[in-house]
Amino acid sequence: SNERQVLPDQPDLKVIQRKITGYVGFANLPKQWHRRSIRNGFNLNLLCVGQKGLGKSTLINTLFNKDLYDLSERPVTEMADLKLEDGVNPPEQLEEEQPTIKIETVSTEIEENGVRLTLNVVDAQGFGDAIDNTDSWNPIVDEINSRFDQYLDAENKIERTVITDNRIHACLYFIEPTGHCLSPLDIEFFRAVHEKCNLIPVIAKSDILTDEEIEKFKVTIKDQLNEAEIKLFEPPKYLIDDEETTNRSDKLHSKIPFAVVGSTSDVSTPDGRVVRGRAYPWGIIEVDNEAHSDFVYLRDLLVRQYLEELRERTSNILYENYRSEKLKNLGIKQDNSVFREFDPDLRQKEEKQLHEAKLAKLEAEMKAVFQQKVNEKEKKLQKSEAELFARHKEMKDKLTKQLKALEDKKHQLEMSLVNQSANSPVQTKKKGFLR
Ligand code: GDP
Repeated sequence: SNERQVLPDQPDLKVIQRKITGYVGFANLPKQWHRRSIRNGFNLNLLCVGQKGLGKSTLINTLFNKDLYDLSERPVTEMADLKLEDGVNPPEQLEEEQPTIKIETVSTEIEENGVRLTLNVVDAQGFGDAIDNTDSWNPIVDEINSRFDQYLDAENKIERTVITDNRIHACLYFIEPTGHCLSPLDIEFFRAVHEKCNLIPVIAKSDILTDEEIEKFKVTIKDQLNEAEIKLFEPPKYLIDDEETTNRSDKLHSKIPFAVVGSTSDVSTPDGRVVRGRAYPWGIIEVDNEAHSDFVYLRDLLVRQYLEELRERTSNILYENYRSEKLKNLGIKQDNSVFREFDPDLRQKEEKQLHEAKLAKLEAEMKAVFQQKVNEKEKKLQKSEAELFARHKEMKDKLTKQLKALEDKKHQLEMSLVNQSANSPVQTKKKGFLR
């Protein structure tokens, strides 16, 4: 009766067993990813562009809460501006066509709750500081390209190790807080880089503008960007996002270009708090207060929410475009590039050439593979031939030996026969005699 009571439980037992065997374990992948990320850390390569004195260094220090730049030796705003007009071009530099733009990288490691971030800030010093800024974005574009090239080279090496990613993941562009509109130089720069890096424009030192001025300025800037068809980095949206995430991402998006304020100094508020901010006779601007500036949104975009998205877009879209464009250009003759767009015949011819080149390459590859297969087969045959010869020779030797042995034996037998016949008459006689 005891057994009967157990029986009805069995079907349940089976169901449980199936669940256990069906568990593959990939639900654990996020945990593995998490552990790996903690171990390897993260990296962010940030390009900063804007005129001297717009508060670039201060903002970087504020963003990452670390003294990447020593601000103690910096002149205050007014002095910086004065210096700019007085002595930016010493006589020997006047003769050069281009005012020198210095690209300087500052690196640091930041740790927060055990998570490491390697931060490389690439500062394009001197951009927009000259009187004639024609083509002054070229050194910056070169810098972005050369970082792509370096990555491409590393990828094309036969023995690939872990590639250090030095590609620019985001470009912070500091817009002068004029309150009017973007300068032609701003737009030219955007044009030159918007398809090469995640462009994030910010209105520098926005505390010198009123809220209404900022709103108007933003609308004008957005119009200008639209008209020039400049693509900025946009917080991505996914179907799986919940409402809160979507709202946050929408809000973030609506704040671009971020009107920022930077400061690493602590100031005391009237209500007794100590905050990072800037103190004015009319009040205190708190850096980390989203009601006071868009700084918090910028930090959200750069670090808290979208660091991985910035890296991913750099790698999957911007770098991929650069790479395929580069490879395409390597395949096409560049001499007629000026006419290519206007001469459909020439273009067709070129495309045909390219197609033929592709076919020829494919054919060559196939031939090479075929030849390799033939060679391999030939080698195999040669080997088995040699083996066959060896076996043949071995067998022949063996047979020769056997033959020799047999001949020896035959000889012995013959000898013994001769001996026998020599003795036999006696024996016969003996025998006969004995009979
Ligand atoms: P950089 O040359 O672009 O790196 O500019 P700095 O970070 O050296 O800043 C130049 C001056 O502007 C310094 O005197 C800063 O204190 C001041 N500054 C920096 N950020 C701000 C800001 O958000 N608002 C105001 N009003 N001044 C700022």
